[in-house]
Amino acid sequence: MTAPRVLLATRNSHKLGELQRILDAMTPPVALDVVGLADVAPFDEVPESGATFVDNAFIKAREAVARTGLPAIADDSGIAVDALNGMPGVLSARWAGSGRSDEANLQLLLEQLADTPDERLGAGFVCAAVLVLPDGTEHAIERQMRGHLVRAPRGANGFGYDPIFVPDGYDRTSAELSPHEKDAISHRGQALRALAPIIAASLTP
Ligand code: IMP
Repeated sequence: MTAPRVLLATRNSHKLGELQRILDAMTPPVALDVVGLADVAPFDEVPESGATFVDNAFIKAREAVARTGLPAIADDSGIAVDALNGMPGVLSARWAGSGRSDEANLQLLLEQLADTPDERLGAGFVCAAVLVLPDGTEHAIERQMRGHLVRAPRGANGFGYDPIFVPDGYDRTSAELSPHEKDAISHRGQALRALAPIIAASLTP
């Protein structure tokens, strides 16, 4: 019997691999054929115009279901800084402006926090992960990795704001953790692991 297909609404092969590893690691393993946007007929992606991570994840997943007829999973994530009332939040990827680099986003954030005392540099990486079924059923999970920001980037792993974020319980930035260490605690890992049993119950016989 062929495994049911599920579409992860992303072009990021790292996210595809992470979801596949999480489903394989469940007991019993969840036999699903996980495909990405590169594996289905192309369609114009809708702007991520939502006010929250959950809104944006639903925008992506609902569009994917409407265009392909497949059950779809989507995630949306970013960094929320306490002293900035949760910003950059959903604007994390374009904080310094549309099309600017991860480095430019991170440097702007550091400049904005220059006068903020160290004890107020608490922050969290947040991830919403959602599942939308062709019959309209929807599920959403949101998870956070708490930590604090440091004033100078450290480490070469990861991406985005990893070089200035130290997770709680660590003295290294998340760019100094191995990919395996980060996966185990990350907002995305937590959200996908929490969604995995719902995916299994919804999609496997
Ligand atoms: P997206 O959910 O892949 O669209 O990510 C949104 C943005 O949030 C990214 O471009 C990064 O700037 C930031 N971000 C999300 N997750 C992480 C992470 O694990 N490390 C560093 N930056 C992240």
